[in-house]
Amino acid sequence: MDNYCEDMKKKLIQKKEELGKVVESLLLEATDINVGELSMLDTNHLVDTAMDMLDREQITGKLESIKAMIADIDHALAKLEKKSDKFGLCERCGNVIENERLQAMPWSRYCITCKTNMDKRR
Ligand SMILES: [Zn+2]
Repeated sequence: MDNYCEDMKKKLIQKKEELGKVVESLLLEATDINVGELSMLDTNHLVDTAMDMLDREQITGKLESIKAMIADIDHALAKLEKKSDKFGLCERCGNVIENERLQAMPWSRYCITCKTNMDKRR
């Protein structure tokens, strides 16, 4: 189980770094700001900075979804840090989240059934 947690943690951190790079390239694309001058250490801060600087609707929409994903990643990391056994369980029905789904998206909060139901309701 510990190896499993380590593995998930690695995946989550890697994904967060990836998202940070996506934000960086969005910034580069949309501005001539020297991104190197910004703090790249904190992805959350980076997204906020990008949102402050870029007010083009299309990009802001992308950033919003990246920010939501980062929040989910942080949430999953917090669950792993607490060593609670809640990681991998659906936050809505409490069932185990499908392993395939967790492998693909370790930050998943809900099982496929709940997610599908929630999407339908929107
Ligand atoms: Zn569920």
